[in-house]
Amino acid sequence: MLLEVVTIGDELLLGFTVDTNAAYISKVLAAEGMEVVRKTTVGDSADAIASAVGDALTRTGAVITTGGLGPTSDDATKSSIASLMGREMREDPGILAALGERWRSRGLPMPLPLSNANQAQVPDGAEILINDFGTAPGIWIQDGRGWVAMLPGVPREMRGMLVSGLLPRLRKLGSPDSRGVIRSLTLRTTGIPESAIADRIEAAKPVLNGASLAYLPGVEGVDLRLTLHARSAGHADELLSDAAAKLRPTLGSYMYGEDDSDLAAIVLDLCRTRKARLATAESCTGGMLGSRITAVPGSSDCYVGGMVLYANSAKIQLAGVPESLVRMNGAVSEQVATAMAGSVRDGLGADLGVGVTGVAGPGGGTPEKPVGTVWIASGTSERMEARSFRFPGDREEIRQRATQAALDMVRQLLTS
Ligand code: ATP
Repeated sequence: MLLEVVTIGDELLLGFTVDTNAAYISKVLAAEGMEVVRKTTVGDSADAIASAVGDALTRTGAVITTGGLGPTSDDATKSSIASLMGREMREDPGILAALGERWRSRGLPMPLPLSNANQAQVPDGAEILINDFGTAPGIWIQDGRGWVAMLPGVPREMRGMLVSGLLPRLRKLGSPDSRGVIRSLTLRTTGIPESAIADRIEAAKPVLNGASLAYLPGVEGVDLRLTLHARSAGHADELLSDAAAKLRPTLGSYMYGEDDSDLAAIVLDLCRTRKARLATAESCTGGMLGSRITAVPGSSDCYVGGMVLYANSAKIQLAGVPESLVRMNGAVSEQVATAMAGSVRDGLGADLGVGVTGVAGPGGGTPEKPVGTVWIASGTSERMEARSFRFPGDREEIRQRATQAALDMVRQLLTS
């Protein structure tokens, strides 16, 4: 079981009281195989309590609060959680009678009847957790989202109620079905740096249903992983796909797929849908592009083939790239990339050609064309596009990044 603890009290935020309750609860529950996955501390404000408990319910559906159960006006826990769950407050005659008995047994009249009566107020549909060490009863309440157990703030009272009142209940709940689940969904992007994605997300502030968002940069691009805890796999998937839908517009056409989707497979699917046949001409990637494409089962129905045109002589003799073009612009240039793409497309009778030429390093860089400079061209007989890139990393990374960028240029061409 995964659960969250919300400790409540201005004195905790101000630092006058050290939050020992949360640590105690985590330790006791961990020993029972129940995992506290988040601890939140809020002040006595009703809004803050409702928002923290609401968020925790969405994530795990299992929440323990401590504090704010007493009779005074700063004790807002019960009423704020009641309104979060859409419940009215009602007076519990049993609690009121027990309070009266408690005072009588001390030979005292019950003081401040109003605030003691306040202590006897409970949310409709709630169950009482007996407090053997104090006056404030604990509360157990649940709805479709999960349950909240409200324990007192005074450590001795909280500990007694946790061990004798709450744990037996949680042990019963701890069947496999009621255990929380952790689920993730990854959105894959390419062609945009991590910091630029972060800026976009920061500006758009999409509401992610309490999912955490991890930025995972790699040579193929930046993956964004949404993770959340929920009561059931179905509920988690629902929340995750809703969060993904909110995030997607921020990522625009930089996003190409979800989870472990492969850009080469996506490109092939697009080629299939548009009945386009693809051919590749590679220099610095040395066949890596063809390898990515042919690693996808069924690629032969759209991928005609490719050539590795490594030396200038290969570009000139095999692909018919004019020698003057290479001499005037250099092998790593828009003109040569475009000529390679056009030549392989026409030579192999494809509809779409891709040409990749660049400086993978570690040697061979010049001030105008440093290591990492890559020209990629892709296009049909009607429309050809070429772009230059400056990729970071070592030789292998540059080749991998160039391969991914080439695939992405084809994807963009086929979707625009
Ligand atoms: P009661 O009304 O029975 O005192 P309560 O639920 O209203 O209980 P609070 O008024 O929030 O609890 O806190 C009572 C006292 O318990 C605080 O003054 C503080 O000393 C202690 N306390 C509250 N929360 C914590 C905590 N998280 N860790 C340690 N001590 C705490």
